[in-house]
Amino acid sequence: KPIIELHNVGKLYGNVRALGEVDLAVKPGQVTCVLGDNGAGKSTLIKIISGLHQHTQGEYRVDGEPVRFSTPREALDMGIATVYQDLAVVPLMPVWRNFFLGSELTRGLWPLRRLDIEKMKKIVDEELCAMGIELDDLEQPIGTLSGGQRQSVAIARAVYFGARVLILDEPTAALGVKQSGVVLKYIAAARDKGLGVIFITHNPHHAYMVGDHFAVLRLGAMELSADRRQVSLEE
Ligand code: ADP
Ligand code: ADP
Repeated sequence: KPIIELHNVGKLYGNVRALGEVDLAVKPGQVTCVLGDNGAGKSTLIKIISGLHQHTQGEYRVDGEPVRFSTPREALDMGIATVYQDLAVVPLMPVWRNFFLGSELTRGLWPLRRLDIEKMKKIVDEELCAMGIELDDLEQPIGTLSGGQRQSVAIARAVYFGARVLILDEPTAALGVKQSGVVLKYIAAARDKGLGVIFITHNPHHAYMVGDHFAVLRLGAMELSADRRQVSLEE
């Protein structure tokens, strides 16, 4: 059963049509890739899903119920978390501190208030390990990590704070081949944990490596929507 369903969703900014008549489903344990050139409507789509903007047409459902979020917080409360390209990390702060940074925006803050530092570090260590992220020192400033590692920490953080759907906005765009591979591995790990992942990318190779479903936007419309088996090279 899909967690998120969009039916005929569209968005007008004034009278500029950014998106029109889009259908999309996000299922647990699957990666839905959204591809498209600049201006295709990818940002508009994820802004609607993440609660930053509202659709002006069609229906957005979560767990089968129509929703209309007025803030990202409302989406987060339903487990829909977004990892933006410019990650909300403070470069000079230790890795483990960054993990809890912004947790006031995420679910599960209140129990954390009662945790001590050692306990928090232990959580970070365990969560990163569970995602297969290996770091020698959680005290190192997060700014000293590679871009791929920083993305990975952000993904692990969203998973820990109860995300059911993870929206990743061009997570590999600024990364080289090796670091992209690192991030793709964590996308697969999040999927294997049963999360639904929306993977926005310009890169068809990256999409193909982890994708279960492929949606291609062009000029605000869904040009292609296909499951993996429909585009599979394997037979
Ligand atoms: P992408 O993320 O794929 O590059 P966008 O969703 O940013 O695409 O943009 C889709 C279209 O909507 C573009 O033509 C863009 O200029 C327009 N657009 C996006 N945001 C706004 C806005 N806030 N106001 C007016 N037009 C917008
Ligand atoms: P919000 O709707 O939350 O106030 P927007 O992302 O719509 O924020 O941006 C505010 C303004 O910036 C919009 O009203 C629009 O005029 C302009 N804008 C933002 N992105 C674009 C874009 N891609 N194309 C045209 N105008 C844009």
